Amino acid sequence: MVSYKELGLVNTREMFKKAVAGGYAIPAFNFNTMEQMQAIVQAAVETKSPVIMQVSKGARNYANATILRYMAQGAVEYAKELGCPNPQIVLHLDHGDTFELCKDCIDMGFSSVMIDGSSLPYEDNIALASKVVEYAHKYDVTVEAELGVLAGVEDEVSSAVSHYTKPEEVIDFSKRTGCDSLAISIGTSHGAYKFTPAQCTRDPKTGKLVPPPLAFDILHEIEKKLPGFPIVLHGSSSVPQDEVDTINKYGGKLPDAVGIPEEQLREASKSAVCKINIDSDSRLAMTAAIRKYLAENPSHFDPRQYLKPARENMKKMYIHKIVNVLGSNDKL
Ligand SMILES: [Zn+2]
Repeated sequence: MVSYKELGLVNTREMFKKAVAGGYAIPAFNFNTMEQMQAIVQAAVETKSPVIMQVSKGARNYANATILRYMAQGAVEYAKELGCPNPQIVLHLDHGDTFELCKDCIDMGFSSVMIDGSSLPYEDNIALASKVVEYAHKYDVTVEAELGVLAGVEDEVSSAVSHYTKPEEVIDFSKRTGCDSLAISIGTSHGAYKFTPAQCTRDPKTGKLVPPPLAFDILHEIEKKLPGFPIVLHGSSSVPQDEVDTINKYGGKLPDAVGIPEEQLREASKSAVCKINIDSDSRLAMTAAIRKYLAENPSHFDPRQYLKPARENMKKMYIHKIVNVLGSNDKL
């Protein structure tokens, strides 16, 4: 049993309280590789932002949970080395689907876990989330639960259709589970293809898809029912069109990839939404930089040569999100 506190990590409790009161959101960036981890830490330190580093099922399969946990421990030390004496870094399990997995992560030093019972019947979701909360709170680990279902595909999490969160359920759910934050479904979606062309309109000038707006009415109703309660948005990449264009220009094929417009995330950040999950944008930034580099330098084969601009491009994207979209800069 390792406590996250010994590793210099923090849970989300104080962080979310301040974010809700201050009208900003904490970035939750997924990580799988050393380059992503370095870019996240550099961006957080340079902007003086708290940050959530999260590990999905796909990340655990790819990199191994133990390695990722040590990387998060390394992230804390790295932040100190970069001149941040008291970094606020959360190591979070993204989309935990069983009690055993959440327990394993808590026992190995995660400071926060998500238990995603959103695909289960309502009462079963409550029973599972309550069991995780009971265990997690013994070790002062915070728990995110989910009500409502997001569409889209992210690693092993996938659903063809979305079911918006029902505001009439949130009080009962949060009280009975004791969860610390609640992921809701208001029209965000996992992956780089968040909407089908049929769900969108097309900008006549650029030919790009314009996605349907988020259901802010549902968000505001939830806020009224649970004043000050931390709300989480999954599937909130914006799928920057300049990165998509770079990928397509250098041999990629991502037609009609579309995300959540940043103005809408900016608006959501000012509400009770205090954690915004961004994964696909990092993948796009990395792939765009690598494709461009290799196309322009066909004789190079040292991974450091193309991973360096990839890391820089991800860092630029993380800083942009922190400063221009979520507003979590200068909040340490
Ligand atoms: Zn998610």
